[in-house]
Order: sequence, then structure tokens, then C-alpha cells
Amino acid sequence: MRPFSYTTVSTVRSAVLQVSPDPKALYVAGATEVLNLVREGQIAADRLVDIRALPLTSIRPGAEGLHIGALARHVENHPVVRRDYPVLAQALLAGASPQVRNMFTPGGNLLQRTRCSYYRDVRFACNRREPGSGCGALEGNNRYNAIFGGSDHCIAVHPSDLAVALTALDAVVRTQGPAGARSIPIEELYRLPGEEPHRETVLDHGELITGIDVPASRFAARSHYLKIRDRASFAFALVSVAVAVDVRRGVVRDCRIALGGVAPRPWRARAAEAALTGKPLNEESRRAAGQAAASGATPRRHNRFKVAMVERAVARALSEVGD
Ligand SMILES: Cc1cc2nc3c(=O)[nH]c(=O)nc-3n(C[C@H](O)[C@H](O)[C@H](O)COP(=O)(O)OP(=O)(O)OC[C@H]3O[C@@H](n4cnc5c(N)ncnc54)[C@H](O)[C@@H]3O)c2cc1C
Repeated sequence: MRPFSYTTVSTVRSAVLQVSPDPKALYVAGATEVLNLVREGQIAADRLVDIRALPLTSIRPGAEGLHIGALARHVENHPVVRRDYPVLAQALLAGASPQVRNMFTPGGNLLQRTRCSYYRDVRFACNRREPGSGCGALEGNNRYNAIFGGSDHCIAVHPSDLAVALTALDAVVRTQGPAGARSIPIEELYRLPGEEPHRETVLDHGELITGIDVPASRFAARSHYLKIRDRASFAFALVSVAVAVDVRRGVVRDCRIALGGVAPRPWRARAAEAALTGKPLNEESRRAAGQAAASGATPRRHNRFKVAMVERAVARALSEVGD
């Protein structure tokens, strides 16, 4: 294992000043992911800057919406989150294991790396880990890989359950970099791989996530997260769906449908939202939304099953939010 130095910081400013100018420095928050990646060689870091002492732990619900600090713990247990943002609580509970959930942080969860085995195993070619080396997944075992948004250079999927739920809630990520603060809609946080899969997000090196804002909406309270995976627990999504609907007088006025496990970033299913809006929420509209969600998929040899899985999962998730 490559040696690295370890420092702690107590202010956002000092954190940014330490990491931004040093391309080999990285933040460490819950440490459930970054230490493994440094140890196994997927990430080359000489310096880890521990941000756990930063004052970014609050969970603040209010009339404008919900603020979640980048280091907040157990967001899923907050009574207002459970009541008013069920999709968030369900997505967090569906992730990892109780032991990992005791450690991990929302900021670290959003920036976790792909679980594609060709990225994780340094013996394989991976353009995301080593630009220009190739993509083993294209012709290899691509059962877990993308059916939307991939490129000839990378078909890895983003692993975060939280990011999918936040996409269905129009969340905004707050950051602090050397040039100041930014607010980034979560849909714009992640890049599609294109020809540069190693550039995963729009964040600059050293730009710190300070928190996440979920705006108040009419659909957040009527929301649901469905995760389909190989094991009932402790497994990443084959397909996941976050749905949130605003139904008035029996008709869907507005909705959000986001998919996980199918694309290099949380995948907003806009065609499904369009298919559902203005319709009563019933079996027919749920099925139509499912079919629309799966339209345009480009599956690979081993993941054709994900197309039908998306269709059914969307319909089933919508059945959980009532008629
Ligand atoms: C066995 C296992 C199973 C898992 N299953 C799931 C699952 O089913 N679903 C799921 O969603 N996740 C799952 N995870 C992922 C787990 O949730 C992540 O390990 C975790 O979210 C990373 O959070 P962390 O705080 O430990 O981040 P760290 O490991 O500390 O950091 C991860 C990355 O984020 C960066 N970072 C951290 N905080 C910030 C910040 N505030 N600003 C900028 N950069 C930052 C770090 O530099 C690093 O690159 C699993 C993990 C394990 C080990």
C-alpha cells in the first residue's frame, strides 16, 4: 500500500485550502470507501484530510424544505424525514448495512465510486480508473452495467441509492471551493462518461460538499424507493426506482421518477413522468409509465433483463404511493 499522510481540519476554509492546491490530496469523511480505494490502488492519494470535525452535521427541516449537512448521521431516522420525505429514508435504509450506515456520510455517499468490477479490480482495463486503458465491461461480464447513458469508453453505473432519491426530489448540492460557494442541482452534479469517464462530476478538485437542500414540494410526501438486488440486504441495486407524485382530485399533477443501477448517474425518467402527468394513477397509467421509463435503453449482452425490470419496477413503485 502506498503511504499517505493524514491531517484533521476544523473549519471549512482550512479543509478547502489544504485539498484544493494539492492534486494528490483527498477528503475523508466516513472513510468507508476512500480508504479501500487508496489501499487497493484505484485512487492515488498521498494525503488524506479528515473532515469529520467540520460543523456540517445538521438536519434542518423547515417551510422551505429540508437541509442535510454533508456530515449528517442517520438522516433516515429523523422523524420529519420519515414522514415528509419517505423516499429519502427508504433509500438510505436500503443502502449498505447497519455497520456501514453508522459510519457513512451523505457527502461521501454522493461521491462514492462505481462498483463496476472492471474499475474495482486493478488487473482489468478501465478508462475510468486509468484513462485510455480500455473498458473491460464492454465485452466482458456486463450484467451490472448501464443500459442508459453509457459510451464506448465506459458503461459503469453510479452506485448511490441516496443520489437517486435526491434526484426525484429536485435536490441541490451546496459546495465550497477556493473561488467561493456554489449550488448545483443534483442532476447536474454527475457527468456522463462520454470520452472522459474519469471526469465523474462537475466538481473542481478540492471543492467540498457542505450540504444538500431538498426544496419543499407537493410530491415529496407521497414518494417511495424500490430497490431490486441480488440479495435482500447488503447489495447494490440491479435496478432501483424513486417515485414522487402530486395527485389532486385523482389526477397526477406533477411527478418525478428517477432510476438507479442503470446509468452512470441517477437517471431521470422524463418520458415516464410525461406519460403519467395528467393521468389518474391506476394500473394502466402505471404500466404506461414503466414502458416509457424503459424506452431508449441500450442494453448489453448480459443485462437485457434490466429493461423489463425497469418497466416492472416503475409500475410497482408507483403502486406503493396509492391511487
Ligand atoms: C460493503 C458496502 C456496501 C455498500 N452498499 C451500498 C448501497 O447499497 N448503497 C449505497 O448507496 N451505498 C453503499 N455503500 C457505499 C457507502 O454508502 C459508501 O461507502 C459511503 O457512502 C461513502 O461515504 P463515506 O462518508 O464513508 O465516504 P468516504 O469513504 O470518506 O469518501 C468517499 C469519497 O467522497 C469524498 N468525500 C467525502 N465527503 C466529501 C465532501 N463532503 N465533499 C467532497 N468530497 C467528499 C472522498 O474524498 C472520497 O472520494 C456500501 C459500502 C460498503 C463498504
